[in-house]
Amino acid sequence: MNPATEEVVATVPAATPQDVDAAVTRAARAQEQWAATAPADRARLLRRFAAQVDDHLEELAQLEVREAGHLIGNARWEAGNVRDLLDFSAGGVERLSGRQIPVPGGLNVTLLEPLGVVGVIAPWNFPMPIAAWGTAPALAAGNAVILKPAETTPLTALRLAELALAAGLPEGLFQVLPGEGAVAGDALVEHPGVAKIVFTGSTRVGKQIMAKCADRVKRLTLELGGKSPNIVFADADVEAAALATPMSYLDNSGQDCCARTRVLVQRSVYDRFLEIVAPAIESIVVGDPADEKTQMGPLISRAQLDRVRSYVTPGDGIHGTAPEGPGFWFPPTLLTDVAPDAPVAAEEVFGPVAVVIPFEDEADAVRLANATEYGLSGSVWTRDVGRALRVSQAVKAGNLSVNSHSSVRYWTPFGGYKQSGLGRELGPDALHAFTETKNVFISTEGPAQ
Ligand code: NAD
Repeated sequence: MNPATEEVVATVPAATPQDVDAAVTRAARAQEQWAATAPADRARLLRRFAAQVDDHLEELAQLEVREAGHLIGNARWEAGNVRDLLDFSAGGVERLSGRQIPVPGGLNVTLLEPLGVVGVIAPWNFPMPIAAWGTAPALAAGNAVILKPAETTPLTALRLAELALAAGLPEGLFQVLPGEGAVAGDALVEHPGVAKIVFTGSTRVGKQIMAKCADRVKRLTLELGGKSPNIVFADADVEAAALATPMSYLDNSGQDCCARTRVLVQRSVYDRFLEIVAPAIESIVVGDPADEKTQMGPLISRAQLDRVRSYVTPGDGIHGTAPEGPGFWFPPTLLTDVAPDAPVAAEEVFGPVAVVIPFEDEADAVRLANATEYGLSGSVWTRDVGRALRVSQAVKAGNLSVNSHSSVRYWTPFGGYKQSGLGRELGPDALHAFTETKNVFISTEGPAQ
């Protein structure tokens, strides 16, 4: 369904456990052939896949606007992110190598071997990039991938699978099985032929999957929820910090795991900060995601809209405007005077809603920033480089930004502390998460004289 219009875009069959079983058999066959393919040839095919994505970038972006309600400019960036990560991972294929370690009486060599078949379970909030974050490095390291996209956003994933085939990737190596989480997703998690699960989604489902993987000691990467702080010190460029605040949590209509939804502002500049941020939020242009002038689109679904409304009433706090409907709209909202432990301040709302809370000093800011079960991202605004480093070290989160809200680059590592996840994606070591290290001892003892 197009979340901006409520029109049906496409109907897609839902995979059964039998479909998953057949896909695993096909994937295992393709993986054997792939792992035996020369690294240079694997890299070439992945680069061709990247080129296919580049050739169809506008088509993929337009599809993302229709099925996920993403702003067209963002959707183009997302398709470009898939292309770039495929290229980057292709570059890693030939650099993936073990080590040699001298030991008494011989030599140890380590071999980095592919895991086999990897299951990638993706959420609906960034369907294309997150599908690629698991898929591209897994393929590069010599694995096969079965991707289960979210129920609401299967179309770009299916198109990516077609483009992989057009690029010449072996049939069965990268398969996309749309379906329900509790059925197709669960069948992937439970399948003994799947060596690793890469799950991105809610902390609730991530915990269930972790428990099931424990049964088989199945490898697992988890990218889960967040409730990230945006800490503004009095010594910062307060105007720049305030003007950057709206899009730090309204990007993708707030459906962003890195959204800075807890704005912590030093009390001495709190009133000034609100004076600057309020008109910026009130003037956000909410509407048609296909229009390049729009700054915020709809939420993904009625269920998500209901979830946001369960935390906050439209029109509360500092707020902008949103269309009436059809479509799933909620106005940009910033709530003041909220206790740090109130549900809206403590839980992941996953909509265009943040809270702003004053703090006294650096120790108070760090205490508030860390008073959460999550630890995905955070921002620190200050002109004092010592404070920037101290606070970045003290905040327990995987991705910190100083005087910025930017978190994600495909060549730097990404992942969460605490209940925001397990393991890291992207970055220079991304392929290592899809290998086992085998240690081989070779004796140098000669025959007995
Ligand atoms: P979700 O947990 O409801 O679903 C995610 C995926 O898991 C979907 O494909 C779904 O079908 C599948 N699933 C659901 N139940 C399952 C089960 N029992 N077994 C196997 N698979 C199952 O999450 P969502 O609502 O689609 O996504 C939003 C969440 O994702 C937010 O919490 C957000 O913070 C998180 N997220 C995290 C990151 C990150 O990198 N840390 C990135 C994006 C989104």
